[in-house]
Amino acid sequence: MTTDRNEIAIEATEVCKRYGDREAVASVSLEVRRGEFFGLLGPNGAGKSTLIEIMEGLRQADSGTVRVLGNSTWPRDIALLPRIGVQTQSSAFFVRQTAHEHLATVAALYRADRIAADRTLRTVGLTEQRDVLVENLSGGQRQRLAIASALVHDPELIFLDEPTAALDPQARRDLWQLLRQLKKAGRTIVYTTHHLDEAEALCDRVAILVAGRIAALDSPHQLIAAAGAPTRLLLPAGRLNPDEAAAIPGVDRAEEEGGSLVLETTVSGKVLQAVDALIGLDGLQSRTATLEDVYLRLTGAAALDLANSDSHTEHPPYFPAKDPA
Ligand code: ADP
Repeated sequence: MTTDRNEIAIEATEVCKRYGDREAVASVSLEVRRGEFFGLLGPNGAGKSTLIEIMEGLRQADSGTVRVLGNSTWPRDIALLPRIGVQTQSSAFFVRQTAHEHLATVAALYRADRIAADRTLRTVGLTEQRDVLVENLSGGQRQRLAIASALVHDPELIFLDEPTAALDPQARRDLWQLLRQLKKAGRTIVYTTHHLDEAEALCDRVAILVAGRIAALDSPHQLIAAAGAPTRLLLPAGRLNPDEAAAIPGVDRAEEEGGSLVLETTVSGKVLQAVDALIGLDGLQSRTATLEDVYLRLTGAAALDLANSDSHTEHPPYFPAKDPA
């Protein structure tokens, strides 16, 4: 890598962690750059929380090293704490306190300035809920308060573990706005999510963890491009028969599905021209591959690998043999 060391927020090198005979994190190396919005994705049990806790300095790796903002995270480095913000899946709140009292208490623990609590409530859009008891906040408002607790001392690096879990679609979108603002303000964000659309919309780069290993690491755009997944062109059924469609140069597959004729192609420009010449483009819809397609291929392939683990095959860096479909 040619990245300047000052530009690196997190440098993890060959990090391993076992619980008994379960290999939770298996030789993971990665770098997160300063100012980057970095997503950690993977199915339940893939090792995301373990890895993030090691990066936060909350858990000790069996081997390997992690440097955060230039400092080793283990043994625990007290000087690092004010420079990082942590929101966990089970963020705790002080009971019988209002949103403001809770945040002012957290701010005091970090010796943040006195106006930090109100400023951060404003940042996360909770000014109106300032004097509401924590237990009376809605789920979305509590998630915002948990994020506020990770932000109140103005850290350089923020870890968010599933910040949008269990939110309704509107609350989730509202939180995206907040996360985008944080990135714009130059914060480095490491975050886990199960929402692939969200990771695609927010992250500069994502690492997909499968069974403790990095199965892919790149920008969502590059991962999607590298997957070579076809574009799907949907035509209203009856406009073109499937055999005619399959004969168009560049069409890999043509099949009727739920009222549409679906053409799969990796050369959509060429196929669109041909369709236009044959029947016109009215009513045509185009669906490009998404990060979710990439993710499902990787994690699905790994699940199959695990089921056949006698074969001792290594997890592929990108994709196994192309989907036969
Ligand atoms: P994820 O966050 O991706 O769901 P985790 O890091 O929580 O993954 O877990 C990775 C693996 O390690 C899982 O198989 C999980 O059951 C196991 N594991 C996690 N924490 C512990 C623990 N404290 N003790 C024993 N096993 C654990």
